[in-house]
Amino acid sequence: MIRRNKIIIISGTSGSGKTTLINHLMNKEELNLTFSISACSRKRRPLEEHGKDYFFLSPQKFLQKIKNNDFIEWEEVYPNNFYGTLKSSVDNIIQSGKNILFDVDVKGALSIKEYFQDQACTIFIQPPSLEVAEQRLRARQTESEKDLLVRVNKMKKEIRFSNKMDYRLINDDLKIARTELYNYVVKFLKL
Ligand code: 5GP
Repeated sequence: MIRRNKIIIISGTSGSGKTTLINHLMNKEELNLTFSISACSRKRRPLEEHGKDYFFLSPQKFLQKIKNNDFIEWEEVYPNNFYGTLKSSVDNIIQSGKNILFDVDVKGALSIKEYFQDQACTIFIQPPSLEVAEQRLRARQTESEKDLLVRVNKMKKEIRFSNKMDYRLINDDLKIARTELYNYVVKFLKL
């Protein structure tokens, strides 16, 4: 019997603690997950690596790839910052037989779900409140004040959209959120 890869799509506002939760899942060998590395046109942050965190492309190169129809989906997630899922990169994971974990914005999540249908589940991670999310984002010190406000506005929009996702999780207590997320993924993968 051919085992079909399963697709886990995670979205969450900035400051939701999404990255910590994703890392927790990625460390669980039994889930057999590979992280889908997106392409993006924003500048690399100091600790990020090309080919590990993202494929960092110039805006011109990104637009060329849109024209070439190289993406399953792409979005201008923040003004002038493009992010997208490359068909080639997903094909490679599918060939390897592993399950795929995506970290994309809500619109991207719905597009990928549309593409993979029942093979995929969408999970939205929400901070306990917008105030907490903003505090977490400030503490991270990776954004200018202007970019921070853009991200706070995006949070509000994403939370409105999130009722279209299959599963929603509020990350108030990290330990509880980790367990809830893990249990949900195990159930979806039918492990
Ligand atoms: P950051 O700039 O903090 O790395 O991430 C910005 C946002 O872009 C995150 O919410 C992330 O989920 C989203 N994102 C990352 N890759 C993709 C992608 O390939 N497609 C879409 N639609 N969103 C993405």
